[in-house]
Amino acid sequence: MKRQTNYKKVIIKIGSSSLVNDDLSINQPVLILIMQAFKKLSDEGIQPCLVTSGAIAVGMHDLQISEKPKNMGLKQACAAVGQAKLMEYYNKCASIYGLTLGQILVNHDDFQIRKRMTHLSDTLDNMFKKGIIPVINENDALSVDEIKVGDNDTLAGLIAPMIGADLLILFSDIDGLYDADPKKNPDAKLIEEVDRIDQNILKFVGDTSSGVGTGGMKTKIDAAVICTTAGSDMMICNSAEIGNLAEIVAGERKGTLFKRSKGINSREHWIIFKTNSSGEITVDDGLKTALLSKKVSILPSGIKKVEGTFGKGSVVEVKDGEGKTIGKGISAYSDFEIDKIMGKKSDEISSILGYEGKSEVIHANDLVIFKEEFYGRFVK
Ligand code: GLU
Repeated sequence: MKRQTNYKKVIIKIGSSSLVNDDLSINQPVLILIMQAFKKLSDEGIQPCLVTSGAIAVGMHDLQISEKPKNMGLKQACAAVGQAKLMEYYNKCASIYGLTLGQILVNHDDFQIRKRMTHLSDTLDNMFKKGIIPVINENDALSVDEIKVGDNDTLAGLIAPMIGADLLILFSDIDGLYDADPKKNPDAKLIEEVDRIDQNILKFVGDTSSGVGTGGMKTKIDAAVICTTAGSDMMICNSAEIGNLAEIVAGERKGTLFKRSKGINSREHWIIFKTNSSGEITVDDGLKTALLSKKVSILPSGIKKVEGTFGKGSVVEVKDGEGKTIGKGISAYSDFEIDKIMGKKSDEISSILGYEGKSEVIHANDLVIFKEEFYGRFVK
């Protein structure tokens, strides 16, 4: 059945296994199909954008390395070689259709540090205005654990709302999200539409211990949470369908559609999904009850404990007495200062610290309290 769609900007993510052959050489026909489909979209007035993997795999091929290197430096060398080769091939295929591509390599700091995020968004915006198709990957040659996004499903989930994409399509080796593992259960049914990601949906995700083992779905569902809450639809489709991209975008092909659910503002979205926390503060039971029931700030009097080393303006996790994360927010004080003022009244702050600071350690506007059933998945 055809769905009615009106998508104007579309981002697709394609994984390494769909881009390389068994010997890890580039699968050029797939790249041609992508560019052909992009041309068709462009002709229909729809702006495409690509998040591509494959850098490490292609680099391994060129450097004749058969197993994924455990050595970080060697893996990064593979990415440096592979990324350049990938772009060479993408450009070759794009030129057949008269398309211009531009490469963007990012890591987590490009989202976490707001100034960098603004620059990233500005660059992408200018590329779209000039009709350039962005080809995005993690900057694997320089990314280390502390600063990397880690996987391209999540990366695409972060980019989609940033560029104002109406739709993100994650191409995968299966048709979408099933209600059971289709490899083991012939009666497994494809879930064609998801209005809201909740526990009922999470139980179909393979990587969770209670899941039914559909495998590889966790990062895709995470990406769906990230982009649907910021106003983009997301689909999971089979990568064998890549040549039918325009038809997918027109609502004529099957997959799982996760519908947008603009539930949070951009500041909250940044705090939840784009920042890593530098520390933790633990609140007492009275403050916890208040935080869970209404929009309130965290005052020093309700803080029991502070952990981590962080400065003013850092994002920290808010924990309850049992160590459960109940929220995340921007701290107006360093860990050192909180250690001195916790348990005290706000009007004592200036005499303790020797300067006139804010009454709140985390202001209500800088704070997101997790609704367990929805954001719980992101709580470590
Ligand atoms: N950025 C990695 C690469 O290009 C792939 C990450 C992923 O597959 O999610 O090799």
